[in-house]
Amino acid sequence: MTRAYFDCNATTPVRPEVIGAMSAALGRAGNASSQHAEGRAAREAIEKAREQVAGLVGAAPSGLIFTSGGTEANHLALFGVARSRILVSAVEHPSVLDAAPDAERIPVDSQGVIRLDALDAALAADPRPALVSAMLANNETGVIQPVTEAAEIAHRHGALLHSDVVQAAGRVSIDLATLGADMVTMSAHKLGGPQGVGALVLAGEQLLRPMLRGGGQERRRRPGTENLPGIVGFGMAAELAAALSDISRLEAMRDALERGIMAIAPEAAIFGARARRLPNTSMIRLPGAEAAVQVIALDLEGVAVSAGAACASSRHAPSHVLQAMGLSPAVASEAIRVSLGWCTTETDIERFLAAWGKVAARVRILSQGAA
Ligand code: PLP
Repeated sequence: MTRAYFDCNATTPVRPEVIGAMSAALGRAGNASSQHAEGRAAREAIEKAREQVAGLVGAAPSGLIFTSGGTEANHLALFGVARSRILVSAVEHPSVLDAAPDAERIPVDSQGVIRLDALDAALAADPRPALVSAMLANNETGVIQPVTEAAEIAHRHGALLHSDVVQAAGRVSIDLATLGADMVTMSAHKLGGPQGVGALVLAGEQLLRPMLRGGGQERRRRPGTENLPGIVGFGMAAELAAALSDISRLEAMRDALERGIMAIAPEAAIFGARARRLPNTSMIRLPGAEAAVQVIALDLEGVAVSAGAACASSRHAPSHVLQAMGLSPAVASEAIRVSLGWCTTETDIERFLAAWGKVAARVRILSQGAA
């Protein structure tokens, strides 16, 4: 049975061109720190990838530090900059929230958009040098944050701004200078690259304390032998994503999916729908149906979705993102995340709607029985 995969915000399938580039890199010998021809070839491959990945966010390659993924890059940003005060939006990914458990949380509105007035007031209330972390697009709802405005506010108060652009990169156009962020986090596996490789990109030369010791790689900012095949795959994925050629196709399919949902079950809700969102993401509530049950029922029909974020779903806790938007834990526990990618087809959308329609019909019968 062919399946329909709608969990691209957890991991997007690796693009065939990326598999080709990584296989070639795996087949070559050479450590990028070595002086011989093999080592120089490995170095060249890494520097090419650095240009490709930096290019996706309009940054200078010299500011890019390869890491083991978005989680490590977020930690490097938060721990690497010596700031006594950290402020984060309430809807950040757990790799930010749990890395800085004592950080002050800036609230969001009912659409999941960061409250800039609250950020301004919090920064004005305390003169200590601060770091603000505000993601560009939320991994659960796809809601896009006003990062440029947040950066202006942060800079006005002498603070630095870090933005986790893991979900936004390759799905909206990003130019680091226009964004105004001092640092951004990226991850390869959300944009058709491999898992286990990411990057922190610095806009300037601010001092960054490395988290690891013992090697000169990445200009001493992240020691350890580079993940050559992963980095090469990241580079190829970034180059392909930079064309943003899929955006209107994805948005049209996502909108068709949402129209289909509302036609099947007008009692359903799409969270964050009034805000600017990524073109590929829908967070959908079906009243009366636990998300975990929906995920299993859809899986049995050959459709892969997730109950909120992939990492949060294994904890079985209702989404902190939806709760920050003012929704009760009971409502939040009925939401599934549907996320599209380069591999999604119109047939997949039909397949999803047919499967979801069956779930909604069962819920209706059960609720009528209970009434
Ligand atoms: N930031 C966001 C917004 C994410 O969605 C994720 C992954 O789900 C991460 C960071 C972590 O990235 P990685 O899986 O590469 O560690």
